[in-house]
Order: sequence, then C-alpha cells, then structure tokens
Amino acid sequence: MTFGVEQVEKWIITFNDKIQENKEYLTELDQAIGDGDHGLNMARGFQETVNKITSVNYDDLGSLFKDVGMTLIAKVGGASGPLYGTAFMKASLALKDKKKADVKELVEALAASLDGLKTRGKAQVGDKTMIDVWEPVIEFLTNSETIQPKELSVLSKEKMEYTKELEAKKGRAAYLGKRSIGHIDPGAASSYLLFVSLAEVFTGGELSS
Ligand code: ADP
Ligand code: MG
Repeated sequence: MTFGVEQVEKWIITFNDKIQENKEYLTELDQAIGDGDHGLNMARGFQETVNKITSVNYDDLGSLFKDVGMTLIAKVGGASGPLYGTAFMKASLALKDKKKADVKELVEALAASLDGLKTRGKAQVGDKTMIDVWEPVIEFLTNSETIQPKELSVLSKEKMEYTKELEAKKGRAAYLGKRSIGHIDPGAASSYLLFVSLAEVFTGGELSS
C-alpha cells in the first residue's frame, strides 16, 4: 500500500473521530493522575487540525504533516500539544515534497517522529508516557515488511494497558510517584487511538481489539 495525501487525511480524520468519542475517557484518565485536561486538549487540537487540513488541497505529504504539526503546536495547551506537534513536524521534514510514501518511507517518518518526541520530552520506555506506546510500535513497524493492521492494533493496546503497572517518571503524573501506579497513562491511551486509526486506514474499516 502507498500512502498519499488521501490516506494521511483519512488517518487524521479517523483519529479525530476517535478522540471526540473518547474525550470523556481521556479526561477521566488525566483526572486520576494529572490535571484532567487531556481529553479537552486533544479534542480541541485535532478538531482544529481536521478543520485546517480539509480546507486545503495538498500536493504533498510534507505540507500536510506540517499543517497538522503547526496547528497542534498553536492550538493545544499542556504537554501533549507540543509533543504531538513535534511528532508531526518531524514526519513532515522526513516526507518533504513527497507526493506518496511506501510503507517503509512512512515508518521511517514515524521513527523520526519518535526521535523528536524523545528529544523534546526526554522520556524513555518505562517512564509511563506516550513513549511506552510509540517506541514498541515503531520498532514493530520497522521490523515488519508490511503493516499488519490487527497486530498493530493489538500491540498498541497491550502497551497502553501496560502503562497501568508503571510508576510515572515524567510529566505531571510523576508528582504522584507510586500513587500513579494502577492508572493507564492518558497520553499512552491517545497514542493507542492514533495507531489503531492508522491500522484502520490499512484495513479500510473498523478494527476491534
Ligand atoms: P499536561 O500534562 O500538560 O496536562 P496533557 O494532559 O494534555 O498535558 O498530556 C499528558 C500526557 O502527555 C501524559 O499522559 C504523557 O503521556 C504525555 N507526556 C507528559 N510529559 C511527557 C514527556 N516528558 N515525554 C513524553 N510524554 C509526556
Ligand atoms: Mg493534563
């Protein structure tokens, strides 16, 4: 499968739909170990993003990803806006002027996103953040010849759920220390939705896992 402007727009629109559906859930997760704004931040940011990208006709993936990243940085408060914004800006640099990307190129761009996230947030696997979903997912995608949607969705769900066992070392939840254990990390939950949405672009339909 090749990824063109249409597929990437579908990915972002699908993700936004899931964010809007899960806004309350993400808020509840952030109320438990943060300040309760993750649902609102993501819902506002990705709605603005969808409004932007559906109002422009893109020729290439770089400009599309750049508008996603810039909108998130401009419109989303909290830690997650600049983090997701950085991820999409890094992907835009990797796909500059490209009209289409094959799976390998797309995965390389997402690996650049992960590097950007880690440089910006200084979190590692095990710190109970979105990195606990992103890193194993990118590793899995890098080692796969093709994207296996079901496996992608199951893996990201498992990694999201595993954040429940972890003690937060980064972000607001770190202030709670051991009291953060027993709760899923909100950013890991939104990242899970991002990767299920990607998996769904590959299957062309809804995936339940
Ligand atoms: P804030 O924490 O500023 O209220 P949000 O609630 O929107 O922002 O986002 C919180 C999420 O951001 C966390 O659940 C976590 O996944 C992610 N996060 C916070 N700090 C970092 C970091 N340093 N590196 C990676 N992810 C982080
Ligand atoms: Mg918050």
